[in-house]
Amino acid sequence: MATWPDKLFINGSWIDGHSRRTWPVTNPATGTELAKVAIAESEDVDRAVAAARRAFDEGPWPRMDPLERGRMLFQLAARIRDRVDDLAMTDTLNIGKPIRDTRGFDAPVTADLFESYAGLPDKIAGKCFGTLPDNVTMQIREPMGVVAAIVPWNFPLTNAALKLAPILACGNTVVLKPSEVSPLTALMLAQLAQEVGFPPGVLNVIHGTGPETGGALVRHAGIDKITFTGRHQTGVQMLEAAKVGMKGVMLELGGKTPSIVFPDAPIEQVVNGVVTGIFFNLGQVCVAGSRLLVHESQHDDLLDRIVAKMQGLRQGDPTDPSIHLGCLATPLHCATVRRYFDQAKQEGARCIQTRPVPDDPQDCFFPPAIFDRVTPSMTIAREEIFGPVLSVLTFKDEDDAVRIANDCEFGLMANLWTEHGTRALRVARRLRVGRIAINGGGALRPNVPVFGYKLSGIGAELGFEETVHEYTNSKSILYSLATDKSPWPE
Ligand code: NAD
Repeated sequence: MATWPDKLFINGSWIDGHSRRTWPVTNPATGTELAKVAIAESEDVDRAVAAARRAFDEGPWPRMDPLERGRMLFQLAARIRDRVDDLAMTDTLNIGKPIRDTRGFDAPVTADLFESYAGLPDKIAGKCFGTLPDNVTMQIREPMGVVAAIVPWNFPLTNAALKLAPILACGNTVVLKPSEVSPLTALMLAQLAQEVGFPPGVLNVIHGTGPETGGALVRHAGIDKITFTGRHQTGVQMLEAAKVGMKGVMLELGGKTPSIVFPDAPIEQVVNGVVTGIFFNLGQVCVAGSRLLVHESQHDDLLDRIVAKMQGLRQGDPTDPSIHLGCLATPLHCATVRRYFDQAKQEGARCIQTRPVPDDPQDCFFPPAIFDRVTPSMTIAREEIFGPVLSVLTFKDEDDAVRIANDCEFGLMANLWTEHGTRALRVARRLRVGRIAINGGGALRPNVPVFGYKLSGIGAELGFEETVHEYTNSKSILYSLATDKSPWPE
């Protein structure tokens, strides 16, 4: 394994932070330190934004032939493919996610994203309006400017790519701040972009804590747009920061995904879908299917099958390709999950576990858990836990299912399980969420936009039309062809 970049990437160069302070990046599975990474102070944020500003205002990136911009993104995708093993292992060591998932999902999907968005630059188009015969009136699309991108730790590499591929395809420059928990693969992406020859200042990666480095970045007057993925409480702070200078904002926030299982559902598919839906990455997924809503007639049978499946999951060393479950990303996050877990017991839900939660607060191997007899008012049915904790609720009929599913502050995603196509679409129309998977069809696709209702976000990530809307400015040009231009009637 090559050594990891541990400096800030600003204006095409690797630099130490202004204060030379560093932050330890730790392997949660072993507690060992992986690297000490430079922290960006406000002076470094200024440098990064100034570099991105210069690259946007004066540099070639927004002005180059869109085909050339696409080719560079395509070359970056190729470099990612060459380094899939290193990138996957880095995230596995950094956040305890099993290598089968980082190798099978995170790293290849990251390459897919850049490949897909490499085709976008020369497809960005405006419109012409049929107005007066002696007028040509058009709307053109232009790159937006300098984007501040802030991402969380649960998919370190993929979350970075979900921001960078669309932003760069539209001709913008960017300052990316990865999570202080997991900065290594974002810095590796910068290394790969440097090898491809991206012009200096187009992509800058600065690392540091949220309130300090992230706060200085999003408040900076040189930023045109903030794009953020993380908790809704932090999202509110993005809205506050955006007020200064009227910056654009895009927010991808938390979720509390219901999985609604109707009596005619394909049962084996449901069991697999529900178990992977909540336990993949130990539930540290915004769309984790954390609420199982099962028809009361099916409850006992489905629960027995799901428990049996959960008991067959192997948890252990995340670098072992045979294991399904690794560990949570930090001891701090374990403490949060544990609080929800204890509260669920106090509120009267029945806990089913493969083994007890470890006593040692530094032990991040939190076991998967199912809470049965959950009611919609309980805390675990309402708040995002971001851990391997499934709440089981029952419903009487379709109306009841829709009511329980919608009784939630989040609206990111829902899973529907039924062979009854009309019912599936009818319920899909009634749910207040931005994305619905029917019978397990919820895979991330680069061309399909992701929306959030309610506390789950503002704007869209991915989708070509939506990307152009999010990351370009529109300008109307009204051109008179008339020879008599006198504005006043005689
Ligand atoms: P978080 O909000 O604590 O942190 C996210 C990022 O914001 C980090 O880089 C952090 O350093 C930074 N940050 C924190 N405070 C800041 C501030 N005051 N100013 C600027 N930056 C700040 O979230 P997290 O715990 O890292 O991630 C988990 C959350 O992310 C969950 O709620 C999850 O649902 C959400 N998430 C959403 C999606 C989606 O697509 N909707 C995808 C992945 C994760």
